Amino acid sequence: MQPLCRDHPQPQSFDRVLSSMCTRPHPDAVAAATEFLTTNPGDPMTYQSIAKIESKAVNLLADIVGEPTATGYITSGGTESNIQAVHAARNRSATKTPNIVAPESLHFSFNKAATVLNVELRTVPTDEDHRADLTAVENAVDEDTVLVVGVAGSTAYGRVDPIPELTDIAHRVDAVMHVDAAWGGFVLPFTDHAWSFAAGIDSLTIDPHKFGQATIPAGGLLVRDPSLLDELAIETPYLESPTQATLTGTRSGAGVAGALAAMEALWPHGYKETYERTMYLAERLETELSTRGFETVTPHLPLVAADIPRELFTALRSEGWRIATTADGTLRIVCMPHVTQSLCESFLSDLDRLRRAGNSA
Ligand SMILES: *Cc1c(COP(=O)(O)O)cnc(C)c1O
Repeated sequence: MQPLCRDHPQPQSFDRVLSSMCTRPHPDAVAAATEFLTTNPGDPMTYQSIAKIESKAVNLLADIVGEPTATGYITSGGTESNIQAVHAARNRSATKTPNIVAPESLHFSFNKAATVLNVELRTVPTDEDHRADLTAVENAVDEDTVLVVGVAGSTAYGRVDPIPELTDIAHRVDAVMHVDAAWGGFVLPFTDHAWSFAAGIDSLTIDPHKFGQATIPAGGLLVRDPSLLDELAIETPYLESPTQATLTGTRSGAGVAGALAAMEALWPHGYKETYERTMYLAERLETELSTRGFETVTPHLPLVAADIPRELFTALRSEGWRIATTADGTLRIVCMPHVTQSLCESFLSDLDRLRRAGNSA
């Protein structure tokens, strides 16, 4: 393809990207996205083919999460999915002072949801393994709790909360149980974690544009009971379809088509291979880092956290490594599908060189 213009910045390559939860999309996703670039699934009676593709994509997502009868829609990403989950739970309840309860490992999209929807967000501590503390959640819920959040693949440490136990707590106060698997949803099917509808949950966020290897934007919101989606229905007078559950109006048909194409190409074997390969890399990387004397967090999913000195972090950044830290300053490396063995080796060799240079200075 011709570059847009030599004077413009070019898109980044994934060669040194260790911080992103997105990745290089599958070639089929790119082709499908390009083909459907000018379609709008927000107007399904006009753009009928993309509407059919969206319903196929939702069905496939439902298979991936192990609940074939789940329904939902392709969102613009995890943020929209989480906002709409809170929105639906709030509308479902009669309380005038709604609150939602989430572990402090929650994604910041819930802060946006709380602000936009005027819902109180109660965050509670996590335990020493960075998972939701059940006693704290239990103490935080009350009759005004409309939703309890569990994270399945946390942004900072890749942890999976105790979802069945959280579900019990939520249902005891008649709240909706929502799982945020925006990042983890395409690797968790290959693990032993109880994370999805089988654990009794009501709604789930899962992003094709992260581990699903779809083109951006493609998120997913799924619900067990279609009546929860009905809580979001807004009448659409000038469209032929009577109502809409989405937050956005005009939507990306490219994202929807890219999501279906990626999932058709990769589910289940491609995703399983990706999970096994990236998990192996994460474990290797953790061993290498702890051998060098850094304090590390054992990966449960393909994400490694390690305590490295700030100067070393800065030096790696200035060598072009795209790395990031958690809120408390811990290095986190996300082993996304574009991360390879040689990428990890090259990272470690730069790290060793910079350490030696730092020590000799
Ligand atoms: C990435 C992420 C989100 C937000 O998704 P976007 O697609 O960036 O809007 C929400 N929750 C978790 C756990 C995530 O990893």
